[in-house]
Amino acid sequence: GRWGFGLAGELRQAAARSPHRIAVIDDQRSLSYAQLLDRAERLARSLPVVPGERVGLLCRNSARMIEALIGVTTLGADPVLMNTGLSANQLATVAKDQGLRALIFDDEFAPKVALVDGVEKISEGTALAESHRDSRPPERPGRTIVLTSGTTGVPKGARRPTPGGFRPLCSVIDRIPLRAEQRVMIAAPLFHTWGFAGLQIALALRATIVLRRKFDPAAVLDDLVRHECTGMIAVPVMIQQLMELPAPAVKPALSVVAVSGSALPGGLATRFMDRYGDVLYNLYGSTEASWASIATPQDLRINPRTAGRPPYGTKVAVLDDAGTPVPPGEVGRLFVGNEMLFEGYTNGAGRTMHDGLLATGDLGHVDADGRVYVDGREDDMIVSGGENVYPAEVEGLLADLPQVREVAVIGVPDDEYGQRLAAYLVLRDGETLDPEAVREHVRHHRARFSVPRDVVFLDELPRNATGKVVARELPR
Ligand code: ATP
Repeated sequence: GRWGFGLAGELRQAAARSPHRIAVIDDQRSLSYAQLLDRAERLARSLPVVPGERVGLLCRNSARMIEALIGVTTLGADPVLMNTGLSANQLATVAKDQGLRALIFDDEFAPKVALVDGVEKISEGTALAESHRDSRPPERPGRTIVLTSGTTGVPKGARRPTPGGFRPLCSVIDRIPLRAEQRVMIAAPLFHTWGFAGLQIALALRATIVLRRKFDPAAVLDDLVRHECTGMIAVPVMIQQLMELPAPAVKPALSVVAVSGSALPGGLATRFMDRYGDVLYNLYGSTEASWASIATPQDLRINPRTAGRPPYGTKVAVLDDAGTPVPPGEVGRLFVGNEMLFEGYTNGAGRTMHDGLLATGDLGHVDADGRVYVDGREDDMIVSGGENVYPAEVEGLLADLPQVREVAVIGVPDDEYGQRLAAYLVLRDGETLDPEAVREHVRHHRARFSVPRDVVFLDELPRNATGKVVARELPR
């Protein structure tokens, strides 16, 4: 989506008001706000790009990624954030689709970048210009394009309107106690909507941003303590990995851990808060819809599976196929309305709207207190013997088994029932589980058609860079 309020403008203001405050700490360096701005402007000056063009960014979380992002918008060009997990083929397709003029990349991706034609390639070794140009802001600051992750096909670019300033961010900060001058670890990838939103929030708050190129749970725990982070922005699978570690002797003094991007597996929220305190926030949203709802620690204590309530200025509706609202407790199609909805994909594909609300492609329900629950994607719904089964619901049940570390449930073709359920399980170290015990657990809680017929044990689940399971890579 095209996110609005000018990142470059934010950085300029921060550099003017708090030049010496540390803006970012990464694996290699720590930069003040003034230094970050200087490097971004020198990078901008080094780029063979004119206003209106698009520049791809293929970078892991680092200060250079932020420099590139802001440098490109400073030129009046549009940065296109690319998933580092893209294959060489996908990369070439996206470069062509998006009409990229240049590609800024980390050297580790050089082999796949070598296979992309027709773009100017900017490696880590590319020298920054000596000094920055007289830094008058461009007439039209560049606007970032975030791509969907492509779990359901080729990554799509989405166009989003420029919101009138801070309002949308304020609605989130209103619910999440991220405050000025905090130190925030952004562990979620910056190329993903959620990591990018975290960056916007952190810059707007003049926070110090702590970044690591790769997520290593033990190293992250150390970093949180060493850099005195009070906030962390992550995706659920990272929380899961942190909880695989024994409780640390010295706990980080976190006041906010905000996760988004995929469902929080059942039970995880409670276990995490029992260890680290009531600091977990679960945001539901998408590249297309921005934020739809936010669960506070209090919400998660009431029900660990909830995605919470819509923030100020956002509306969530649950509609049936005819567009009629369904009563609380009943599952329907989730629709979202707010001023940050995308306007359409860059490839011209449209969006599905109903009365000003966007179809999220998700199924869900709302409880009597207005809390939202995401029950799964419409496309993932399994129809087995004419009955609808939501894989996320069965995944939640199986995640509650103490032996189970990770789980994915999908529908596979079945001659008799149309589709049947297949469950893929990763067990905790040293644990074993009988497939029949898995089925019995589901049978105990759910109707017969929800019971997975195939039970497959794997060493790990195939996941994309944001932690979503890639169903087409599961063995059949
Ligand atoms: P693609 O469409 O190519 O698969 P993507 O959709 O994975 O890309 P996102 O826009 O980040 O990229 O995904 C948003 C989707 O992730 C939502 O529509 C929803 O299905 C799921 N999701 C995000 N946050 C939550 C959450 N807190 N709880 C449950 N599901 C979530």
